Amino acid sequence: MGRGHPECPQRLDAIDDYLLASGVDVALQRREAPLVDLACAWPTSARSTSGYVAELRNVLEQVQDANIPLRSLDPDTAACPGTWRAVQRAAGAAVAATDAVLDGEVANAFCSIRPPGHHATRNATMGFCFFNNVAVAARHALDVRGLERVAIVDFDVHHGNGTEDIIANDERVLMVSFFQNPLYPYNGTDPLGDNMVNLPVPPYTRGAEVREMIEAHWMPRLEAFRPQMIFVSAGFDAHREDDLGQLGLVEADYEWITRRIKDVADRHAGGKIVSCLEGGYNLGALARSVTAHVRVLAGI
Ligand SMILES: [Zn+2]
Repeated sequence: MGRGHPECPQRLDAIDDYLLASGVDVALQRREAPLVDLACAWPTSARSTSGYVAELRNVLEQVQDANIPLRSLDPDTAACPGTWRAVQRAAGAAVAATDAVLDGEVANAFCSIRPPGHHATRNATMGFCFFNNVAVAARHALDVRGLERVAIVDFDVHHGNGTEDIIANDERVLMVSFFQNPLYPYNGTDPLGDNMVNLPVPPYTRGAEVREMIEAHWMPRLEAFRPQMIFVSAGFDAHREDDLGQLGLVEADYEWITRRIKDVADRHAGGKIVSCLEGGYNLGALARSVTAHVRVLAGI
């Protein structure tokens, strides 16, 4: 993304390092992310409304082939020669994880991927995001693998406006989230569909209050919806050490949230969860929070 940009490669290194240092690594099965054909994987409804995939592919391939160091696509999002492969791998990880979980090869999966995806709408890059990894995976589960109901849980500090753009009013999907308000992308307070549970929370809200809201507003809807699989937009920028937001969550809160997600998955979905990294920009807080999240997913 360019020098000094918070969405940097060191994020994934920090996660790897801490998984290793904490000993969680030995309990995990590691897989390389395959490249996915985005022209096929991008949600059908989104594909038919625009030539977005083809247009963005052209731009990213041009940046790759001409070895252009950096090209800005919007005020927050820039592409470098590695971006085209990175976006195919990020979405590819989410799709491969979905297949691995649905085929019973693994109980659940965490995709340690970048760039993130939840701000990417059906036809625009936004907020460090090019393609919506979670939406691609959720639609793969529905359209290709034949599931009837999937839930998307988004606990990033920013509203997942791109995911909402793609899945609002799709009755096969329930999306629950909380996000700081006001904060980028400055929307989400008026949900675009009945299948959205959007919880805007003011700056400086602490984890205990967020937990109460989750218990009161997410859990009844998730229980009633009985998802067959749960996708997580796992952003860790609501951590109190993260400067991109002003919320006060800590590792124990991410552990608690993951446990509640797992409870629902265990009751209704045979434990099937695919979690995809979104935000989280303080490297230490990110690494510790992901490890807390993965620890619960792995049951250790
Ligand atoms: Zn974020």
